[in-house]
Amino acid sequence: MRSLVVLLYIALWAFVTATYHNPRLPKTITPCHYDLKVQTHIQDIGNSHFEGSVGIVLKVLQNTDQIVLHAQNLTINEPTIKLERLMNSQIISIVSTEFNPSLDYFVIQTSKKLQKASLYYLNIEFAAQLTNTNLGYFIENLEPGNPMKRSWATVTQFERVGARYAFPCFDEPALKATFSVSLGHHKNYTSLSNTEKYGVRYQDHNIDYIWSDFKTTPKMSTYLLAYSLNQFSHISSQTQGPNSIKFRTWVHSDALQNATYVAEVTPKILQYFEKLFEIPFPMSKLDQLIMPTFKFNGMENWGLIVYREASILYNPGDIKQKQEVARLIAHELAHMWWGNLVTMSWWGDVWLKEGFSTYFSAIAVDHVHPEWQYFLESYGELQLDAFDYDDKKRINKVSISHSVVQSNTDEWEKDISVFYHKAASVIGMMSAILGRDAFYDGLRSYLKDNAYGSTTQDQLWNHLQLASDRVGALDKAYNIRTIMESWTLQRGYPCIKVQRNYQTNEVTVSQNHFANDTKSCWWVPLSFTTQSESNFSNTRPRLWLNCNAKGMAEPVTVNLKSSENEWIVFNIQSMGHYRVDYDPRNLKMISDSLLLPDHGGIHFLNRGQLIRDCMYFAKLQPKRLNQTLDLLTYLSKEREYIPWKMFKDNSAKLLAIMSPEATQKFGAEIIQPLYRKVDDLNGGNSDVILRPLIEELACKFKVKKCV
Ligand SMILES: [Zn+2]
Repeated sequence: MRSLVVLLYIALWAFVTATYHNPRLPKTITPCHYDLKVQTHIQDIGNSHFEGSVGIVLKVLQNTDQIVLHAQNLTINEPTIKLERLMNSQIISIVSTEFNPSLDYFVIQTSKKLQKASLYYLNIEFAAQLTNTNLGYFIENLEPGNPMKRSWATVTQFERVGARYAFPCFDEPALKATFSVSLGHHKNYTSLSNTEKYGVRYQDHNIDYIWSDFKTTPKMSTYLLAYSLNQFSHISSQTQGPNSIKFRTWVHSDALQNATYVAEVTPKILQYFEKLFEIPFPMSKLDQLIMPTFKFNGMENWGLIVYREASILYNPGDIKQKQEVARLIAHELAHMWWGNLVTMSWWGDVWLKEGFSTYFSAIAVDHVHPEWQYFLESYGELQLDAFDYDDKKRINKVSISHSVVQSNTDEWEKDISVFYHKAASVIGMMSAILGRDAFYDGLRSYLKDNAYGSTTQDQLWNHLQLASDRVGALDKAYNIRTIMESWTLQRGYPCIKVQRNYQTNEVTVSQNHFANDTKSCWWVPLSFTTQSESNFSNTRPRLWLNCNAKGMAEPVTVNLKSSENEWIVFNIQSMGHYRVDYDPRNLKMISDSLLLPDHGGIHFLNRGQLIRDCMYFAKLQPKRLNQTLDLLTYLSKEREYIPWKMFKDNSAKLLAIMSPEATQKFGAEIIQPLYRKVDDLNGGNSDVILRPLIEELACKFKVKKCV
């Protein structure tokens, strides 16, 4: 009996030591390089599968007898696992292995401790079915209506946790390594991966199968690895200059003609980013693969971007669609620096790649299509989206780096627009705070310093602070980290109240939480102009709303040099991420000015902001309805897209406080004058997108009969 207890104890001990329950990988081992071989069988309908081997060069950071890595839905050939110490070719035997499916772990127990600072080579053989899961390495049926027709393509989707479904690996973004990929496949298929193919070998035992060998990748995260087998056609294009990069856009041959714009605009945008960030694209080629039913609009795998057909193909003539295509390409290309070259250490700071790629996609589209005025238009839209997000009291902050995020079904995954739109709006504000030169100086040094590495937002703040200090962009009393973390680590946004004293000519500015439900405080950069100045180009802060040592908001009062009969407008070009609430007399002066020729000189983004915020405050306090309608009346003379877009997207707020009949009558009155001249909308910058919007509003408010 006693010996049984001892045996049981030993068995339990072995079980306990082999199990690892922390949701993050242990910091005992880091991968340096992967040799990945994957042989794919897609000829056999109903039994499509792949098998392969991965050899990983491991560096031991702390002595350990356990290797914990990720593997999910893979069959691992455990007896063939081999571990070798590279220094002396010593083979280390494996005591046991164990799957932990809830955390996607595969745990290997070694017979002796692996030594700190030593390199080891771990080889694992694996296999799995190929299914249409949109995760890991999967297969797409290109003709789903005809299952017997062998028309298939395979592709990978590894962000965030897909790589572990394709091969055993250390699947965390900070654990970067180089990858040498070899793909085994039928010779009738084209194989693609992140890097250029350097060789093709016939397989010994099967004359129809070949090995395609790809050059070693730069050091990168597992989620950016990609490969595909397909029978698509492609369009070639390239950048100009000495380090010319080869571009190929791959698509089903029927759709080739709709991909010409993709092939044409991609080199221009990539070259623009190389100049803007002052860091060359590190690869010699960039493939873009267009899949029929890919789950995401695009995925930025380094050197092999994947798109969904419906999001990227362009029918000539549809300008809005063309803009979306350009924006999507620019977004994925911005990731080559923001995410691929410099990667967030953990998914909670995914805004470091998504926010910047969203922001720079708008800048790049502006560069390749200056006629669209795209940056300002799209910035207004994404800011509105960001406010809507917080108005619905969603859960996420811009940075949730301290949360534990692990599986693909995490709560935060359902609600991610904050990492794109709000983050981009906050980044735009950052550029307005620092000024363009210090902003770009800080970003470039951040990218250069952290190239092929990973970061938290701390590194970003440090580089921006240094850049600011170099040129004195910010007063010493202001610290970038303190300012920016009030935006990235808090939910919501502030509403800024502007109250003028018309006797003393003072203006007092204060902040409130957008939903009045907490005592949050933001560091708010205040740019403004008065009627006599009418300077809508300087977006830098002239004043600050500070938080005191207890984190409480402090109002600020200044003396105006202008007359009491002039308006004051805050938040120039709406570059600050906040709403502005004016006292009634100031708002009346603004409303009167908007009716003047050129809308009294008030910038169109500020006109959009005034509409957006007034409609918001009217919904909160219906007694403000009349002053809001008074302001909106000027729209009958408005010819820019953003103010109309703000009106359209907020029109439900009017319906909430007015009868449907009154709302329709008011809407019809302001739309009618422009709708009558809708055929003339073919000259101005935003006319191409304004015209369909006006036609849509004319339908909505029954100015014209629509089906
Ligand atoms: Zn993205």
